[in-house]
Amino acid sequence: VLKSKGKNGYQFFTASMKELAERRLEKEISLSQGLEKGEFILYYQPKINIDTKEIYGMEALVRWNRSNSLIPPGEFIELAEETGLIVPLGEWVLREACRQCKEWRELGYTQLKVSVNVSAVQFQKQDFAELTARVLEETGLEPSALELELTESTIMDKPKEAAVILLRLQQLGVSISIDDFGTGFSSFSYLKQFPMNVLKIDRSFIQNIAEEGADQAIAKAMISLAHNLGLMIVAEGVETEEQLGILEEAGCDAAQGYFISRPLTAGAFLDYLKSRHLNG
Ligand code: C2E
Ligand code: MG
Ligand code: MG
Ligand code: MG
Repeated sequence: VLKSKGKNGYQFFTASMKELAERRLEKEISLSQGLEKGEFILYYQPKINIDTKEIYGMEALVRWNRSNSLIPPGEFIELAEETGLIVPLGEWVLREACRQCKEWRELGYTQLKVSVNVSAVQFQKQDFAELTARVLEETGLEPSALELELTESTIMDKPKEAAVILLRLQQLGVSISIDDFGTGFSSFSYLKQFPMNVLKIDRSFIQNIAEEGADQAIAKAMISLAHNLGLMIVAEGVETEEQLGILEEAGCDAAQGYFISRPLTAGAFLDYLKSRHLNG
């Protein structure tokens, strides 16, 4: 309850800070126990080639299955980053996503590529490229079937270190995708300095693409920028047929979003693949 304590507002402030700190600590402990108990699961959101409408891959999205409720990443990734827990959590995500992709490819879906989100804390660890190489070897996944999604700020935070890691990842044969493109760093110079393969147009530009001329102009400019740089371009957050049509018209390569499919459990994703396959 927000209640002023007269002149001594400071007392109220410290009490609420203490409460916040306690709640945070509780969450931190249950996060770390959750990792030990295997409470994290991956959902997979399909990505389609806009021309052929075929599923060529999926993004792995982590959720926390905590006492029968599914907690979205927006509610725990930040804390995991601040506490360093993102390192073991991110390693688990990478390994599980690679293992799953390998399994589906062996079932005959040999075109599938999996994308994994990588947080800055995880990426900036010295051995991130070595970890990726090890996970690929352990799971048997072809390096070309793995795409890592990084944000502009993750790369630009420590550009020199990032360049070394990106180069090693490229030598491995892994693809690099710039997530939430257009919302982060304000300069384009990094696009020519670093090896990368894919740009993902942020959802905020897609949301009103049918109504807002400015959003449509920006999306079209991004598509042409990507193509002129020899990069693939994916739109995220496509929610309507009209949005997909505009992107198709504009020459966007691929799309992901609720209009195509929500993120699915591994079981539901496989069913989705099977049904799409049968329908041609
Ligand atoms: P992101 O990488 O940009 O992922 C896209 C987010 O948009 C996902 O939210 C997805 O469920 C949601 N989304 C997809 N299509 C639509 C749509 O048509 N409309 C709307 N409104 N939303 C859509 P989610 O799963 O809650 O993930 C949120 C963010 O959490 C991700 O954004 C990513 O930055 C982070 N994240 C998720 N999984 C991981 C992970 O394993 N590791 C790390 N480091 N971050 C992760
Ligand atoms: Mg992503
Ligand atoms: Mg994104
Ligand atoms: Mg996003």
